[in-house]
Amino acid sequence: MSARAWSAAAVATLAREAARSADTHLLQLGLPAFPGIDLYFKDESSHPTGSLKHRLARSLFLYALCNGRLREGQGTIDASSGSTAISEAWFARLLGLRFTAVMPETTAPAKVRLLRDYGADAVLAPVGADCRAVARARAAADDLCFLDQFGLAERATDWRGNNNIAESILAQMAREPHPEPAWIVCGAGTGGTSATIGRYLRLRGTRTRLCVAEPRGGAFAEGWRRRDPDARASAATVIEGIGRPRAEPGFLYDVVDAVDEVDDADSIAGAWLLGERLGRRYGGSSGTVLLACLRLARGMHAAGTGGSIVGLLGDGGERYAETLFDAAWLAARGIDVAAARAALRRQFDTGLPPGVPRTGLSPPASFPVRDR
Ligand SMILES: *Cc1c(COP(=O)(O)O)cnc(C)c1O
Repeated sequence: MSARAWSAAAVATLAREAARSADTHLLQLGLPAFPGIDLYFKDESSHPTGSLKHRLARSLFLYALCNGRLREGQGTIDASSGSTAISEAWFARLLGLRFTAVMPETTAPAKVRLLRDYGADAVLAPVGADCRAVARARAAADDLCFLDQFGLAERATDWRGNNNIAESILAQMAREPHPEPAWIVCGAGTGGTSATIGRYLRLRGTRTRLCVAEPRGGAFAEGWRRRDPDARASAATVIEGIGRPRAEPGFLYDVVDAVDEVDDADSIAGAWLLGERLGRRYGGSSGTVLLACLRLARGMHAAGTGGSIVGLLGDGGERYAETLFDAAWLAARGIDVAAARAALRRQFDTGLPPGVPRTGLSPPASFPVRDR
């Protein structure tokens, strides 16, 4: 087959996969403490490969093909904390290509097993190593196609539409009481999701604001305050997929209206609470998002406004059975999830902020929101 014919067939294979896949659900979660504020969650765990990285992996392969830099029989490689690698491995197999993931050695064991089940190779890099640099060097040495999620996420996704996540959310909200969300809340890993949502909200002329939910001290939070493309994290996190150690090329600070930093114990408690209230478990980044949604709802309630808030559930909880949902794993890291869960349940059900007695007045939300 000629190079051009193989590329055309591969693009057609990706288009067929997209046509076979259904859109993800928009779930509603009752928030009785704040009447008039409706809370929704975009459930990205329902993709064929179990996370929002399904969208990204499809876009990255399409982008490599359409840029003429992926050939028949060529191996592919990327740096990933796991979820992107799983989706990329799945798409590589669909296209009949080999895939290698460069990932930190601390990645959840269940993720590594799943990856090997997909027929991919895993290179485990020591903590602190720059996985992206390792992947780029290997690509150059072995003539592999470097998919480069961190370098290309923000531009590989078609933010103008083509069923991107933002278009899907607004379409699914159309018949709700507050169809234009007051806020959309997501995490930042590659920054691709927040960039796509932020751009699309402007393209559509909405008043919706975008909040990035970030593990405390993560590089997005540090960078957003000063618009610093070289920001470093001031603290590490156990939440996978978000809370990057350094600012990524795809971080578009200017489309983000607020950043809410959440402690790991609270994010984990949030993941547990989502499991209790939605009937199935979600990962740590979904918990981070829940906490930010709750804080925004409290701020809206204090300001006397109603409306809708849409949060993103990045992946399911099954990948974290041996980590975030394992009592011994948490105890070994000094994370008191029982206390955090009790405090969060109380916050969720009463609407009171942490540490305020039931009879107290709730202060307004205090995290920074940029004027527009
Ligand atoms: C990657 C990821 C995110 C963040 O999405 P980006 O588009 O990469 O910024 C959030 N949650 C999970 C579980 C992820 O894997």
